[in-house]
Amino acid sequence: MTESMMDSQIIDQLNSGVLLVDLNYKLVHWNRFLAVHVNKSFNDVVGQSIFDVFPELPRRWLERKLNSVIQLGTPSFCGWEQRHHLFELPHTRPISTDSEFMAQNCTFLPYLEQQQLAGVYILIEDVTDVCHYQSMLKATMQELELATRIDGLTKVYNRKFWEESLTHEFLRAKRYACDMSLLMFDLDHFKSINDNYGHQCGDLVLVEAAQRVNSLLRDADILGRYGGEEFAVILTETAQFGAVEVAERIKKSLTATPVVFNGKEIYFSASIGIASFNSEQTSHETLIAEADAALYRAKSSGRNKICLSPTLYKCS
Ligand code: GH3
Ligand code: MG
Ligand code: MG
Repeated sequence: MTESMMDSQIIDQLNSGVLLVDLNYKLVHWNRFLAVHVNKSFNDVVGQSIFDVFPELPRRWLERKLNSVIQLGTPSFCGWEQRHHLFELPHTRPISTDSEFMAQNCTFLPYLEQQQLAGVYILIEDVTDVCHYQSMLKATMQELELATRIDGLTKVYNRKFWEESLTHEFLRAKRYACDMSLLMFDLDHFKSINDNYGHQCGDLVLVEAAQRVNSLLRDADILGRYGGEEFAVILTETAQFGAVEVAERIKKSLTATPVVFNGKEIYFSASIGIASFNSEQTSHETLIAEADAALYRAKSSGRNKICLSPTLYKCS
């Protein structure tokens, strides 16, 4: 048995595609893996340009790739993350993947005959599984990242993420002297909703309140659940006047219609505190403390009220 016979036997046993082209990109050989996966008879296509045999190939890009191997005599590589596949080969996985074609890592190797460069070997490795699990991992990571930001019940931002956002927005407002306002609102007599109608009903009111408020805000505003039945909104690029308008809309929307639970209508309201950014404030915590103090005053002045830091706002 000659060495080259041995080589070709091994190449035929490989669970990867091996394809040989000459210096004019004409097909010289492909191994059994490709014979199985390509829907063409080798005898019909041998001697033809690979760009005719595989019209899906990105011609200009691949010509450049092959040329560099031919001119430099050094290997080259193209991974699935750069190009999902070069050859439209069906994959045989029972799993459902993003693509109907096999994901491929392709290696381009110089082929020598009597120490003379005579062509290029293209090694096609099936990495469909790697690609599939990688995309699943990516999707899971994205979901996890989202889960660390979102409050499980109301689906608005949780306190941690909301407060991080406020830190950024506060620094931005300070650096660029932008307007920014903060609304903090707390549902009134919420404990009695729980006590009278049950915790599930209380949960429903929380979800509904968050949804109603969210629907009134701009994309740039940031709504978070600050704790139990207390929420907070960062109104970016918004001075006190604008914040009052938003607060009025929130107040109106919360009280306008009841939540219906087990056929019962439950009306609810919130008290709202507003604080706006000014250059004397030293940190985002000052802003929170001011909005919180205003909220406290809104509660003590009868609830379902809007209070500004530092004065009571007479709402319409
Ligand atoms: P106030 O008008 O002064 O705000 O009175 P309140 O009853 O709303 O305030 P209080 O702090 O006495 O009660 C808040 C209640 O919110 C108590 C707590 O059990 C309830 N709560 C906190 N988180 C949740 C939740 O996720 N779901 C439900 N259903 N209730 C919650
Ligand atoms: Mg409350
Ligand atoms: Mg509260």
